[in-house]
Amino acid sequence: MHSRYVERDAEAMVDRYARQGVATDVALRVYTTRLLGQDPALVLHGGGNTSVKTVVADLGGQDTEVLSVKGTGWDMGSMEPAGMPAVRLAPLLALRARAELADEEMVRFQRANLIDPMAPNPSVETLLHAFVPHKFVDHTHSVAILSLTDQPDGEKICAELYDGRMGIVPYIMPGFALAKKSAEVFEAAPRAEGLILHKHGIFTFGASAREAYERMIEMVALAEARLRRARKAVFVTAQLPQTCAPLASVAPILRGACSLADPRHEGAWRRLILEFRSNDAIRNFVNGADVAR
Ligand code: ZN
Repeated sequence: MHSRYVERDAEAMVDRYARQGVATDVALRVYTTRLLGQDPALVLHGGGNTSVKTVVADLGGQDTEVLSVKGTGWDMGSMEPAGMPAVRLAPLLALRARAELADEEMVRFQRANLIDPMAPNPSVETLLHAFVPHKFVDHTHSVAILSLTDQPDGEKICAELYDGRMGIVPYIMPGFALAKKSAEVFEAAPRAEGLILHKHGIFTFGASAREAYERMIEMVALAEARLRRARKAVFVTAQLPQTCAPLASVAPILRGACSLADPRHEGAWRRLILEFRSNDAIRNFVNGADVAR
């Protein structure tokens, strides 16, 4: 994975949005948000989020410190300034003093502090963006990072790989508790360039849009290299029978084996729809002598 940041493209976007009255911070935020969102190894449609801490005039003309953060319903790959609602930063920061905060209450609080009351709901991960001090914050559910953290010893692998450059946050459902825990992990290692969220994804920080974006690329590239090192490309094939049963005979058995009893109705089953996929890499894996491992 390589940086796709092009200074000339970034400047062109700043100029284009300036003519529509969009500030430089937000224009650059939109530029790198699209770079992240257009790479399916980083972001699948609708996933991930980004933010910038900046100053805007509120509806009364008063300069106000805000967090502009991805709004729900927007896709990073086709982000526009309208998809980055501005929320007053000071009230968000004051929430850290609370012991807990339910999701519905958090959404209401965030909406109540929007600069534009017509803006979309700020991301469910808004508070995590607010609680770290950096100007630009990027978040993705990168495939390579998940491939590392979704292993039994994922936290240990990441701690070794990033060697203090990234804070490691244990798994917590997204929301207030995760935001608070992430801020604590960061404050215990304030030189960290980002956070690895166990079984969830990665955050990177920067003073500029480019710095946060290129840290994302660098950290994900390290994860990709680590996966390549540890991965066996070819498996020794097991003894296979002369002829294999046809798919049509096997599929109903598999489907039955995957069904779950439905506790709501006696004798009822919750069944799954299966999709058949095959290629050389899949066959090499499933025919491997140590597939049971
Ligand atoms: Zn996330």
